[in-house]
Amino acid sequence: MTQQSADVNAPLWHAQPAEHAFAALDATAAGLGDAQAAERLARHGPNRLAPPQRASALTRFLRQFDNILIYVLLASAVTTGLLGHPVDTAVILGVVLINAIVGFIQEGKAESALAAIRDMLSLRAMVLRDGQRRELPAEELVPGDVVLLASGDKVPADLRLIETRNLRVQEAALTGEAEAVEKHPAAVAADAPLGDRRCMAYSGTLVIYGQASGLVVATAADTELGRISTLLEQVGAMTTPLLEQIARFGRWLTGLILGIAALTFAIGWSLRGYHWGEMFMAAVGLAVAAIPEGLPAVMTITFAIGVQRMARHAAIVRRLPAVETLGSVTVICSDKTGTLTQNAMTVKSLAGSTASYTVAGVGYQPEGGFRVDDAEVSPAAAPLIGELARAVHLCNDAVLREHADEWTVEGDPTEGALLTLARKAGLDPAATSGAWPRLDSIPFESEHRYMATLHATPDGAGAVLFVKGAPERVLDMCTAQRGADGEEPLAPAHWRQRIEALAARGQRVLAVAERRFTHAPRPLAPADAEHGLTLIGLLGIMDPPRPEAVQAVRRCHDAGVRVKMITGDHAATARAIADELGLGGSGHVLTGADIERLSDAELQRVVQETDVYARASPEHKLRLVAALQANREVVAMTGDGVNDAPALKRADVGVAMGAKGTEAAKEASEIVLADDNFATIARAVAEGRTIYDNLKKAIVFSLPTNGAQASLIVAAILLGTALPITPVQVLWVNMVVAVTLSLALAFEPPESDVMRRPPRDRDEALVSGFLAWRVVLVSVVQTIGSLGLFQLEIAQGTSTEAARTLAVNALVTGQIFYLFNSRYTYASSVGLRGFVGNPVALLGAGLLVLLQLGFTYLPLMHTLMGTAALGAHEWLWVLGVGATVFVVVEIEKAALRRRLARAAGGRSASHDFS
Ligand code: ATP
Repeated sequence: MTQQSADVNAPLWHAQPAEHAFAALDATAAGLGDAQAAERLARHGPNRLAPPQRASALTRFLRQFDNILIYVLLASAVTTGLLGHPVDTAVILGVVLINAIVGFIQEGKAESALAAIRDMLSLRAMVLRDGQRRELPAEELVPGDVVLLASGDKVPADLRLIETRNLRVQEAALTGEAEAVEKHPAAVAADAPLGDRRCMAYSGTLVIYGQASGLVVATAADTELGRISTLLEQVGAMTTPLLEQIARFGRWLTGLILGIAALTFAIGWSLRGYHWGEMFMAAVGLAVAAIPEGLPAVMTITFAIGVQRMARHAAIVRRLPAVETLGSVTVICSDKTGTLTQNAMTVKSLAGSTASYTVAGVGYQPEGGFRVDDAEVSPAAAPLIGELARAVHLCNDAVLREHADEWTVEGDPTEGALLTLARKAGLDPAATSGAWPRLDSIPFESEHRYMATLHATPDGAGAVLFVKGAPERVLDMCTAQRGADGEEPLAPAHWRQRIEALAARGQRVLAVAERRFTHAPRPLAPADAEHGLTLIGLLGIMDPPRPEAVQAVRRCHDAGVRVKMITGDHAATARAIADELGLGGSGHVLTGADIERLSDAELQRVVQETDVYARASPEHKLRLVAALQANREVVAMTGDGVNDAPALKRADVGVAMGAKGTEAAKEASEIVLADDNFATIARAVAEGRTIYDNLKKAIVFSLPTNGAQASLIVAAILLGTALPITPVQVLWVNMVVAVTLSLALAFEPPESDVMRRPPRDRDEALVSGFLAWRVVLVSVVQTIGSLGLFQLEIAQGTSTEAARTLAVNALVTGQIFYLFNSRYTYASSVGLRGFVGNPVALLGAGLLVLLQLGFTYLPLMHTLMGTAALGAHEWLWVLGVGATVFVVVEIEKAALRRRLARAAGGRSASHDFS
C-alpha cells in the first residue's frame, strides 16, 4: 500500500535537488546555529506527535459502571426503593459510586505508570549544529536541521537526503512494505508515490543498513507519519494474556454465580416460603458476596506497580506480557561487551613482528608509558608505537573529550581506547588529522569485522588506506608485514600465536594494517580494502568484567537460570572473561564457524552443554535461540545491533540495550535496559517472579472473603435462620477490604527465596491445587467463626443487629490476620518480620480497624448499616476468630513446607523457608 501525500500545498521535496531544499529552508550543510534552531523550535513547536486520543475523564468514569454486577446492584437499588427501604437504596447507590471512584483512580494510576515508561523510551538523533555533531532529543529537531543517520536508527523527522552510503530503509510503518528500500539523493518524479521517493527518509521508518545525512523538511504533525496520524505504540495497553484470562474467568464466574443466586431465590421463595422481597435481597447479597468484582482491578494495579518498580531499576518493559514470561526464563543469552563487561576499554599491549610493548594506565585518561619487559621505552624511540598510533587515530570515528580532568568518549569505546593510546604515544591529534585528510571510509559492522579509512598523504602524492579489525579477519586480508627493515612477507603462524597469547589474557585483540595507493580508489569499495594489505601490528585491549555481573551470574545460577555469553570477540578472550565471570559450562567455547558446521539437531544437543560462544554474528544468535527453544528452554536474549532484531524477536524475552542499542533492536525487544547492565536483567527476572508471586498472593488473599460471605448466606438460607450478614453489609465488607487490604500485597517485596527456586513452569496454573485448597480452608474457618458467633449471640438473646455486627467484625478481623499469612505463600509469617515487613499492609490494617470501629459505634452507621455497639468481651471473641484463622493457616503452611521438602528430597534448588 502506498499513499499520496494529503496536503496539496506541501512543497514537493522529493522532486527537487537537495540544494533547492537548503535554499528553501534557509539552511546550510553545516547545520543551523543554536539561536536559529531555538527560534525555529519556538515557531514550529516540538517534533512530537500528539499521544493517541485518550477517552475523556467522564467517559472513563462512566465506563466503571459498565459491569454486569453494577447492573445487578442498580436493579436491586430500584427494587429496595420500590419495597420502601430508602436507606438500603441510598447505601447501595453510595457503594456503587464509591466503587466506581476507586476503579477510576486505580485505572488512572495504572495508565500514568505506563505513560511514564513510554517517556523513558524517547528518541535521540545525531544532528549537525554549527558544523559540530551533537546528539539531541528528537523532539528538538526543526526544519533546516541536518541529521546524520546510521544503520539501526529510527528516522526522527522527514528528511530530504543529502548524501547516502548504501542506505537501505524499512518503511513498513508508513507503506506497510516490509522489504527495505534502497535510497539515494537524486530527485525523483513529482508524482512518485511515497514508497518510490528514494531521496526521502520518512519519520518513523528504520535504517536497516548504511549511512546518510539528510535535511529536515518536516517535523511532528507535518511529517507523513503525522499526516496519517498513526502513532507507533511504544508500550501496549495495560493487559496481558494472564490478565485477560483472569478477566474472562471473572466474567464466567459472574454468570455462574448469578445463575446460582437466581436458583437460590427461586428455591427460597417457592419451597421455603420466604417473602419474595426478602429473598430477592438475599439473592442479591449472595451475588455480591460471591463475585470477586474487585480482583481484576487489583491484578492490573499489582502489575502496574511491578512494572513501575522494574523501570525504577532500569528495566523498561515495552510489552507487558514479557513480565509474565520473565518469571519462567530458564536461559539468559547475553552479549559480552558492555553488558557483562564494563565497556571501559584500555589498550594494554602492542605487538609488532619483532617487538612487544605493554602500556600503563587505566581508562581514557591519556597518562601512562610504554614498557618492554620491565624497562620504560620512549615512544619516540620505537617507530612501531608511532605508526600504530597514527593508524588507529585516523581509522577512528570516536571523539575523546576532557572536562574538568574527566576524560570521556563519544562513540565506540573500543575506538576511544585507541585515541587515548595515540595521545599516550605523543601524537598531536589535530595536526595528524589535518595532515592526512580522510577521503572515504568503510564503517565497522559486526558482519565484516573491520573498519577502513582512506587518507590523502601529507605530500599529496598518493593515498593510504588504514584498516583495523578482528585479527584473523585482517590477517586474511594481508600479504605482507612491517618488519624491522621495511616490508617483508607475512608470517601468519607467528601472528596467530601472538593473537592467542593476548586473547588468553582476556584482552580484545585488534589488528592494524595499511595499503598504499598511487591513485586513491574513489569511491572506496570493500574489494580495495580486503586484499594486498601490510600488517603493522596488534593491539590488546582490556575490558574488565562488571563486578556486579559476577554476582548476578551467581544469582542466576542459584535461581536455576543458565547464563550463556555470546560475543563477537575471539574465543580465547571469551573464555578468559567467562572464567572471571564464573560462567560454567563444559569449559568449551563454540565459535561462529563451529555453529555453521553443525546441523540443527547437533546444535540442539551441543547448546545444552556450552555456555560460551565466540566470533558469533547475529545469524548465529538466531540459530542458538531456536536450538534452545527446541529444547523447551524459555530464552531471554540481549542485543543491540540492527541485525540482532530477528533473534530478539524470536527469543521469549528480547532485551535491548538502552544506551548503546539501536532503535531497530529496541523496536524488536520486549524489554529495554536503560543501563545496558547484565545485573539489571537478573534483577528483572527477580522482579518478574515477584510480580507473579504477588498476583498469586492477591488472588489467594481475596477469594476467601467472597467464599466466606457467600457460604454464610447460603448456610443461613439452608438453615432457615436470619441472615448473619445483610446485603448492604456485604457491600460494606467488600468495599473496605478492597480499599484497605487487597492492594497491600501489590507492594510486597520479593520473598527471600525468590532467586533460590527454579523457574516457574510456563504452563503452570496461576492458582495451583493446594492454593485452591487454602482458599477453601480459610473460607470454611471464617464461615464457622462468624456463623458460630452469630448463633451464640442470638442464643444469648441479644439483638440480631448486634449479632450481625459481631459476625461482620469477626469476618473482617479474620481477613486482617489472613493478610499477614498471605505475605508469604509458603514461609512462616510468625515473628516481627511477618508483621512489620510491609508498611502498606500495616497502614491498611490500621485504617480498616478504624473503619470497623466507625461501623460498630457511629449512630449514623447504626441507621445505614443496621449495626449495634459491641462490648469488650465480644471483641475478645472477634480477636479469637482472627487469631484462629492465623494459626490454622500457619499450621497448614508448616505441613505444606514439610511435604514440599520431602518431595524435593533435599535437592539444592529446594525452597528456602527462612
Ligand atoms: P559482544 O558481542 O560481546 O558485545 P561485540 O559486539 O563488541 O562483542 P563486535 O563489536 O562484533 O563484538 O566486535 C567483534 C570484533 O571486531 C572485536 O573482537 C574486534 O576485534 C573487532 N572490532 C570491534 N570494534 C571495532 C571497531 N570499531 N573497529 C574495528 N574493529 C573492531
